Amino acid sequence: MIFQASRLIITVNHLHSLKSINRVWLQGDFRRNMHLLLNKTLINGEWVSSSSNTELAVTNPANGSIVGHVPDLDVHDVNKAIDAAHKTFHSNEWSSLTAKERSTLLKKWYLLLESNRNEIASIMTMESGKPLAESLGEITYGNSFVEWFAEEARRVYGEIIPTPQKQKRLFLTREPIGVAALITPWNFPHAMITRKASAAIAAGCTVVIKPAEDTPLTALALVKLAEEAGFPKGVFNVVTCSRKNVAAVGEALCTSKQIAGVSFTGSTEVGRILYRHCAEGIKKIGLELGGNAPFIVFESANLEKAVTGAMTSKFRNCGQACVASNRFLIQDTVSDAFTAKLLTAMKSLQVGDGKDQGVQIGPLINTAQLHKVSDIVEDARSKGAHIVVGGRPIPGKGELFYEPTVVANITPDMRLYTEEVFGPVVAILKFKTEDEALRIANDTNRGLAGYFYSENLNQVMRVSRKLEVGMVGVNEGLLSTAEAAFGGVKESGIGREGSRHGIDDYVEIKYICLGGLD
Ligand code: ADP
Repeated sequence: MIFQASRLIITVNHLHSLKSINRVWLQGDFRRNMHLLLNKTLINGEWVSSSSNTELAVTNPANGSIVGHVPDLDVHDVNKAIDAAHKTFHSNEWSSLTAKERSTLLKKWYLLLESNRNEIASIMTMESGKPLAESLGEITYGNSFVEWFAEEARRVYGEIIPTPQKQKRLFLTREPIGVAALITPWNFPHAMITRKASAAIAAGCTVVIKPAEDTPLTALALVKLAEEAGFPKGVFNVVTCSRKNVAAVGEALCTSKQIAGVSFTGSTEVGRILYRHCAEGIKKIGLELGGNAPFIVFESANLEKAVTGAMTSKFRNCGQACVASNRFLIQDTVSDAFTAKLLTAMKSLQVGDGKDQGVQIGPLINTAQLHKVSDIVEDARSKGAHIVVGGRPIPGKGELFYEPTVVANITPDMRLYTEEVFGPVVAILKFKTEDEALRIANDTNRGLAGYFYSENLNQVMRVSRKLEVGMVGVNEGLLSTAEAAFGGVKESGIGREGSRHGIDDYVEIKYICLGGLD
């Protein structure tokens, strides 16, 4: 059997060996073996507690046990982190580095991230609940951004423009914006940080990272390795804080005059708040927000490929991904066959603690998420949807587990139609024509990813063009990669991450006019 986790194809044999390594850390007295499981945060090159000496407990969603504690920083501490990043940005030690020198530091960081994969994966699985194979897959993916931007750092080119006046020469350079605040979510605790931080650093910025309160330990492990790679103090600063402090901390990051730009991945609701804060200082902002991805299966589709894509795009990370398929639109002529094949594939899904061998679906991240998924499914049930399979929490496994679920007969008045479920729930609607499929697919204020399956070339070209999304997967359920541009349209965000465009949020174009020439 081959199990696809993110971009990594891992055979079961490979998994066995990885898991035996990780079990040493995940069970027993693992802390003694882990140099990356930290309880202080990095500000200005020092590992510090919060000034109020308060801490935030990080729990394992699989069983509620405490994995560790991190400092619960407040606005006072955040200002210190911003100040450190600002001083370092203007310091000779950082600003005089060449692009090649920054590239070398990023490469060193990449190599350390690679050689510490198992330990980082263990930490990630413990705090996020995702299966170990997925944690390892995310590390491959997350590290690939560091490698990519180490390479891109050397290609932040300017332009020389043919002059309209003989006595002038015109140049455009791309300058780092200054300090970038990076606010990241819990669903990809590693990759959402590396995708932003390595682009910012490649450009020459310094960063203040605000990881999600559910998964700060992975963030600390990443910056510990950045420190070991030799980045000057103050280039990386991390602000760990509780939900109680986050609104004030977020506001401080967005309104500080010392912060030049903000990059946020998370919910559309919080993105809107941060966008408003940034308006005050006319600050650059990159937003990667929620989606409501359609997954369309046309009658010409190869149903085997469609089911494989559906399994990956829906059940990866227990459905907790902004690019996860949310509404499955199946042409009526193939809907019974598709659903039957999907149900067969779902029978082999193993739900459990992510550290256990063979587990493909872990717990949801927290109680709020469990309630959200349950409420959305109950809403559909109460409005006449058909629960084909699942549809309930699994208290026997732990407090945060939810059954892999299929709900059919979805209608536009249901939350499953309009909201991102962020859980292991397949919501099925039938359609008759391509026009109807496109109308339903685009009937949302979100526009991140969209997927469709078709073997008809003309249809492939038409539908790719007409889907109102930033990213289209054609006969493919997994599309994100460091080389391509990730981002959305409508209320799914602003800007792109990854690809050569990923640097754009962290540079300003400066025009230099050299005049008075003979
Ligand atoms: P989710 O609902 O999936 O947890 P959020 O958008 O709430 O997604 O969280 C994404 C990130 O935004 C996390 O790091 C979280 O701590 C942070 N966050 C939440 N609320 C705010 C806020 N008001 N200001 C700044 N950051 C916030």
